[in-house]
Amino acid sequence: MAQQPMLKFTSIPRDMPEKRAAEERRTDFHEIYAEYAAAKAAEQSARCSQCGVPYCQSHCPLHNNIPDWLKLTATGRLQEAYELSQATNTFPEICGRICPQDRLCEGNCVIEQSGHGTVTIGAVEKYITDTAWDKGWVKPISPAQERPESVGIIGAGPGGLAAADVLRRAGVQVTVYDRYDRAGGLMTYGIPGFKLEKDVVMRRNDQLVQGGVTFVLNCNVGEDIGFDEIRAKHDAVLIATGVYQSRDLGGPGAGAEGIVKALDYLTASNRAANFGDSVPEFESGALNAAGKKVVVIGGGDTAMDCVRTAIRQGATSVKCLYRRDRANMPGSQREVQNAEEEGVVFEWLTAPKGFTEADGQVAGVLVQKMRLGQPDATGRQSPEPIEGADYVEEADLVIKALGFEPEDLPKLWGVDGLEVTRWGTVKAEFTTGQTALDGVFAVGDIVRGASLVVWAIRDGRDASQAILDHLNQSAAVAAE
Ligand code: FAD
Ligand code: SF4
Ligand code: SF4
Repeated sequence: MAQQPMLKFTSIPRDMPEKRAAEERRTDFHEIYAEYAAAKAAEQSARCSQCGVPYCQSHCPLHNNIPDWLKLTATGRLQEAYELSQATNTFPEICGRICPQDRLCEGNCVIEQSGHGTVTIGAVEKYITDTAWDKGWVKPISPAQERPESVGIIGAGPGGLAAADVLRRAGVQVTVYDRYDRAGGLMTYGIPGFKLEKDVVMRRNDQLVQGGVTFVLNCNVGEDIGFDEIRAKHDAVLIATGVYQSRDLGGPGAGAEGIVKALDYLTASNRAANFGDSVPEFESGALNAAGKKVVVIGGGDTAMDCVRTAIRQGATSVKCLYRRDRANMPGSQREVQNAEEEGVVFEWLTAPKGFTEADGQVAGVLVQKMRLGQPDATGRQSPEPIEGADYVEEADLVIKALGFEPEDLPKLWGVDGLEVTRWGTVKAEFTTGQTALDGVFAVGDIVRGASLVVWAIRDGRDASQAILDHLNQSAAVAAE
């Protein structure tokens, strides 16, 4: 009888790809996990118990066919594993690197519940597609037939690019407009290289260019070109502009020099460290933590990226202030652990009240100690101040990482009829991205609020199907 290749979770322990030692990785911006060797990827995939109802799959926003590609990997049929994996995911190697797997696929892997440790789904997904690139299995985008219609996509983040990929493969003429000089959105300029090396993103941008997608970069819609002008040029428009308005802090001293926004700081670092761009604010030290005492305010993934960037830039100390405790922070626990290993100190249950300054330059954060009070309507315990327990945390650089809000697009672009929700996000149908304007669709963070790359990909793929339907209907009407 043939040997059962799967269900090895009782005999083989969970084993992630090797993580570089903290001492080494804190000095560079390279990814911290190595790649699996082929035998290790097969071994780890073979731990899957091939569940009849795979919760991993239902909790993956793309509903990736995880059990099947694990089995193909375990049995050495890697090219087929790749074909299956890329059928539902536009950027599997990116999701394998940066999805918060502990909250999505792996967090719902049933063998975890029996105490065996989840299948390392993300690391295998990354391995499959990195191997496919190495072996030349990733095919160029080459539509079987060209279509006359064109679609304008505003925003070259994962939402816009996932849609561009599907539409171009269907033969549609696609133009992507972005205000930055490189495509990729937050995958290029937000997320640091130690989570996602930039050649992984640029390789995908190149694939789209080679497949015939036109990029109009350094083009700020609303300033360099009007939204109505884009609408007039194309048969359909997709808005995928993300959310970029940083939540701010008030209090005494809030205007001092040296208090900066997280995304300005991360963008400068990504440009300087990963692309070798000349960034005056980085070179002047305004957006550079080298030799400084750094305080980062916030407890989400952006804050985690800031603290770990500051360590790599050579800060003398890096502290993170968060108003709740470790168990109640929004950021990934895996990232907190990585940050602690690299030397970051977390000050839980602390909130900024204001800032001290010397000659207009920030010198410290006035910290209010907090405790967790009664649960609010959502069941989450609200932080409340402990009177008389303030102190000053010394700082030369303070980075505000308190989350992002959408910009007011209808006002910014002077568009009548583009409806927004009470949170300021663009109102669009969840399954199609259809907005209140005919032929205008919207996806990603500008619809969901700050979310995840994998959700933007899902939205982009879904909306591109709806856009194809729209183009087909318009073509049918024109032919009548
Ligand atoms: P974006 O990626 O924001 O792309 C929008 C694009 O639109 C940008 O390129 C922008 O330049 C362009 N644009 C905006 N306005 C205009 C305009 N008027 N004219 C022309 N172009 C315009 N998610 C994860 O899954 N894992 C992570 O580890 C992770 N880490 C993150 C770290 C940081 C620091 C941040 C800020 C976010 C992180 N996220 C992470 C979230 C993730 O990056 C976003 O959810 C995702 O990028 C949203 O995709 P999007 O396509 O909607 O928008
Ligand atoms: Fe898991 Fe993300 Fe891959 Fe889905 S896309 S299988 S959630 S890593
Ligand atoms: Fe395999 Fe875990 Fe998914 Fe079950 S839940 S199919 S064990 S990866």
